[in-house]
Amino acid sequence: MLAPFTAGWQTTDVNPLVIDKSEGSYVYDINGKKYLDSLAGLWCTALGGNEPRLVEAATAQLNKLPFYHSFWNRTTKPSLDLAKDLLETFTARKMAKAFFVNSGSEANDTQVKLVWYYNNALGRPNKKKFIARAKSYHGSTLIAASLSGLPALHQKFDLPAPFVLHTDCPHYWRFHLPGETEEEFSTRLAKNLEELILKEGPDTIAAFIAEPVMGAGGVIPPPATYFEKIQAVVKKYDILFIADEVICAFGRLGTMYGCDKYGIKPDLVSLAKALSSAYLPIGAVLVSPEVSEVIHSQSNKLGSFSHGFTYSGHPVSCAVAIEALKIYKERNIVEKVANISPRFQDGVKAFADSPIIGEIRGTGLILGTEFTDNKSPNDPFPPEWGVGAYFGAQCEKHGMLVRVAGDNIMMSPPFIISPEEVDELISIYGKALKGTEERVKELKSQ
Ligand code: PMP
Repeated sequence: MLAPFTAGWQTTDVNPLVIDKSEGSYVYDINGKKYLDSLAGLWCTALGGNEPRLVEAATAQLNKLPFYHSFWNRTTKPSLDLAKDLLETFTARKMAKAFFVNSGSEANDTQVKLVWYYNNALGRPNKKKFIARAKSYHGSTLIAASLSGLPALHQKFDLPAPFVLHTDCPHYWRFHLPGETEEEFSTRLAKNLEELILKEGPDTIAAFIAEPVMGAGGVIPPPATYFEKIQAVVKKYDILFIADEVICAFGRLGTMYGCDKYGIKPDLVSLAKALSSAYLPIGAVLVSPEVSEVIHSQSNKLGSFSHGFTYSGHPVSCAVAIEALKIYKERNIVEKVANISPRFQDGVKAFADSPIIGEIRGTGLILGTEFTDNKSPNDPFPPEWGVGAYFGAQCEKHGMLVRVAGDNIMMSPPFIISPEEVDELISIYGKALKGTEERVKELKSQ
């Protein structure tokens, strides 16, 4: 098998961890070993491993209508119902339409085409560039990887595409100037964004895309006043704001959407992952009334919106997503996450004094740990020491799966995690940290 994001590609040659079964917040490998799944799969199994209602929703739909498409004004009831239910969940501002896709990457590729179509419809053929941020992650298809601000997604792939520009990563700890407050840092970043727009020409910039909390780039919540200031700049130059809520949506941050938490009023929203609690692939793009009105009213001139996938609005995926949204509502999932997150955040952040930890950061049920020496963003450990990988292996040994990216560790447990499971997560984190501290001590003495 050729495996995604795996060194040497061929997972089968490098002794992979083979997961066989899941149960609540846990997964089991083929040897029966149990792991607390601190990343909820890939930040996505919000309702955990064995939610029977999702399985029943899928089974009922499979028995009734396993597939029909949504092209040429034909569609299915689950896709119509999901569009309606989903639009009701988004209250940061009114959204008019939902377009279904199969993944977060497809959602962001769709955003680019929607925005280009919109500007073509408005007779602004030059307004086509996108601004994204360094360290962002927006997916791995050609366009989504271009939008992403992670060098590994660009190097050796001839990316990013030339219409994508990257502005500052809003990571206060790493990038603030001496004596600069969070607010001042946000002001400087908004000013840099404005300078970039002016340098390129506002008439050439179509959209700005951002994750409310950056995920794969290392879990980076925005500094105080950041989105307020960034939105003011974007608005001033008639640039659309795209919120990539693929990780943050449906309760992850203790609010229904990341936009609710940070006062973001986007023109377009990208969704995937927890939309179906990952039981089946589905993503969506939410479109504001203003954008959808232009697309609708200009379609005579431009012809049909010739974009979509065989599985856009797949009825079985939609049926599962409808049920997931119902469960989030019935079980007050957002409130549950808000209530349990201090236990998770405070419990892990209690380790922040460790001499090998530079920063622990997060909010709600998402958390990143960055290992550095001397508590400084400028003193990374030698990459060949593999400090992050060692910590990850220690967690695995003690029965927990975390995401490792260099010396960054990321966790985003299922929304259904119990207080006892949070305590177990913290306890394993502590054991793994102790082992890693000893390892670093040993390496330093060599
Ligand atoms: N956007 C964000 C913020 C993501 O975190 C991800 C996936 N981790 C994507 C987009 C891409 O989603 P997918 O892997 O479903 O294509």
